[in-house]
Amino acid sequence: MAARLLLRSGLRAAAACRAVRVSAASRCMSTGGIPTDEEQATGLEKVIMKAMRDGTDPYNMMKPKGYAGSKMDPHLVPSITNKRIVGCVCEEDNTAVVWFWLHEGEAQRCPSCGAHYQLVPHELPH
Ligand SMILES: [Zn+2]
Repeated sequence: MAARLLLRSGLRAAAACRAVRVSAASRCMSTGGIPTDEEQATGLEKVIMKAMRDGTDPYNMMKPKGYAGSKMDPHLVPSITNKRIVGCVCEEDNTAVVWFWLHEGEAQRCPSCGAHYQLVPHELPH
C-alpha cells in the first residue's frame, strides 16, 4: 500500500513537472520567444552579420590571406577604382618599400622582385 502511494505521488510529481515545462515553452512560443541577434538586427548590422556568416570580410578586419605571388596565385589587391598604389617589401629584411601603380586587368609584376599582383574590384559596404 505504501509503495503504491509512493508510486502515485511520484507519477503525479513527474506529470506536474512535465506540465510546467510545457506551459513555460508554450508561454515563450505564444510571445514569439526571445529573438536571436540575427533576427533582430537591421540595417548595417544585419549586412555585417550576413557577410561574416558568409565568410566575407566587409571592412577588411581579418588578417589577409597569404598568396604565393606567382603568376598563377597573385597577391590580390582590392580597389574601389581602376588603379591603386602598391608597396612591395620585396624581401622580408628589406627596409625600403618599392612603390608602383597597379592597374586593372591582368596581374602585374613588382619591378624589383617580380612578385605578381592583381587588382580586384571592391565595393565599399556603404
Ligand atoms: Zn617586390
